[in-house]
Amino acid sequence: MQGWCGTISIDPFVRPWSARLHRSMQIRVLGCSGSIAAGSRTTSFLLDDNVLIDAGTGVGDLTLDELARIDHILVTHSHLDHVLAIGLLADSVSRRRQAACRPPVVVHALAETIAALHAHIFNGVIWPDFTQLPDRQHPVLRFEAIEVGQQLELGRRRVEVLPACHTVPAVGFAVNAAPGAWVFTGDTGPNAALWQRLRSLPVATLVIETAFRNDEATLAELSRHLCPAQLERELSQLPAPAEVFITHIKPGEVDAVMSEIGAHASRHRIRALAADQLMTLAD
Ligand SMILES: [Zn+2]
Ligand SMILES: [Zn+2]
Repeated sequence: MQGWCGTISIDPFVRPWSARLHRSMQIRVLGCSGSIAAGSRTTSFLLDDNVLIDAGTGVGDLTLDELARIDHILVTHSHLDHVLAIGLLADSVSRRRQAACRPPVVVHALAETIAALHAHIFNGVIWPDFTQLPDRQHPVLRFEAIEVGQQLELGRRRVEVLPACHTVPAVGFAVNAAPGAWVFTGDTGPNAALWQRLRSLPVATLVIETAFRNDEATLAELSRHLCPAQLERELSQLPAPAEVFITHIKPGEVDAVMSEIGAHASRHRIRALAADQLMTLAD
């Protein structure tokens, strides 16, 4: 391991029960709501104990020890509900990671997303630039650009960057697993490129957004999100039946949206995603 202090040491952050021993991966849903309210937290998933997928308000439920173990943050896009915990996490873990000679937390995002984070959040006005702090040689954050189609190797985990179609440059992610991948669409409207890719990628679990009810279809279209009617058209393009979990529903709208989704027969098993839900994936 390459650490800040340039020494090789036993990694004190690796938990003894790590999923590595069991050859399985675990995804913990930290937040899956389209906005905040008591009990509603915005998008974030924890892959095993050291990879975050998006950094919404759900990250705030992690203990300081859990936060300090995170080495990678995969970011779907620049919207606040997906990124606001990056800077807060950096502030929280800086001392612990520095004391343990941990390398910077790597934030993986599209180049456009990185530019937006630099310009609008880590700009010294909204928040300090943690890619330069606590000092330039040993920052707590490091940004790394990704591209659609790229396969990220994160330890033994392989994550593919998927296309998304949103109001800002955006991606989804597929965590490679057997017998099929765990796929997260990110925020997206109708997304032909995604279905084209998934025709040759076996999908076991699909986490897909449905941000609005059908009577807000115009708003969904303008904001490049999905409503239940559009979701049905999208899911009809997924070739094989899958476990489908709906995410990004606004607080107070879950029953209405799920009832509109349930009104249509589907060959997929469709349920609402829930915060604190654990999903185990075979390696
Ligand atoms: Zn968004
Ligand atoms: Zn969002």
